[in-house]
Amino acid sequence: MDQFSVGDARIHRIEELTTLFPFANFNASDELIESNAHWLRPHWLREGDTWEMVVQSWIVIVDDRVVVVDPCVGNGRSLPEFDLFDMLDTPFIERFGATGIKPEDVDVVFCTHLHSDHCGWNTMLRDGKYVPTFPNARYYMGRYEVERWDFRRPDYQHVPANADVFENSVLPILEAGLAEVIGANQRITPSLEAGLANGHTMGHMALHLCSASRHAWFTGDAFHHPIEFIHPELDANSCEDFALTLKTRNRLIENFVRQGALVIPAHFTSPHCGYVREEGGVRSFEPFQG
Ligand SMILES: [Zn+2]
Repeated sequence: MDQFSVGDARIHRIEELTTLFPFANFNASDELIESNAHWLRPHWLREGDTWEMVVQSWIVIVDDRVVVVDPCVGNGRSLPEFDLFDMLDTPFIERFGATGIKPEDVDVVFCTHLHSDHCGWNTMLRDGKYVPTFPNARYYMGRYEVERWDFRRPDYQHVPANADVFENSVLPILEAGLAEVIGANQRITPSLEAGLANGHTMGHMALHLCSASRHAWFTGDAFHHPIEFIHPELDANSCEDFALTLKTRNRLIENFVRQGALVIPAHFTSPHCGYVREEGGVRSFEPFQG
């Protein structure tokens, strides 16, 4: 689903890439897979026991503002420790332009966190220098994330898989004076509020949309696969603090169910978003139908 509405908000999806990973990533037992196979196969659990991960951004048009959520990896980034994202050359910007929205039209960029696949297109290379891709936007990034990845700080801890991301995708935004470094809760437009949803990284945030009484949540990497809605306790070893992730997931799931919210994660395969339902104590995932 590449275009849809939530309340008065219009949402576009921009894909950067897809890949298959082993389902074993989720460390689910055979019994757990068996008891969920009826809804997982063939789409969410594919041939050869794989799952498809998509890298995508979302454009939200609401309150007369154009908001970009999690601007993917970017082209030409040297990430030798993360093969999949190393030296990409994708038509992301052309796909973005095909929506009819120009980078200059963007008012807000929101990064759930500052891993390479969530802030790369913050900037692009021009004449050998990284410059803001969205020159008229305010870029909202969590304070903890900005401080955590700042290699200039004495307490900086290097993560090879996220090398140079701060230097190339964050620092040019700070230096251009376009950054809004935000705390735990921040209203971004009347319909959009960012809040802490941490665990995947310690400063990871989610974005809540409430428009015309309809709810949606942009959840970044709090969930990578719908199996985690049904079994939030599954630990794919991709979190800085999994105990915190579990608390965050349970709190978010409670909101999704109560609000009937559309959940719009960063990495779900087609239809890329859906609802978490709970009836008679049984939780299920309902893929978005449009
Ligand atoms: Zn990610």
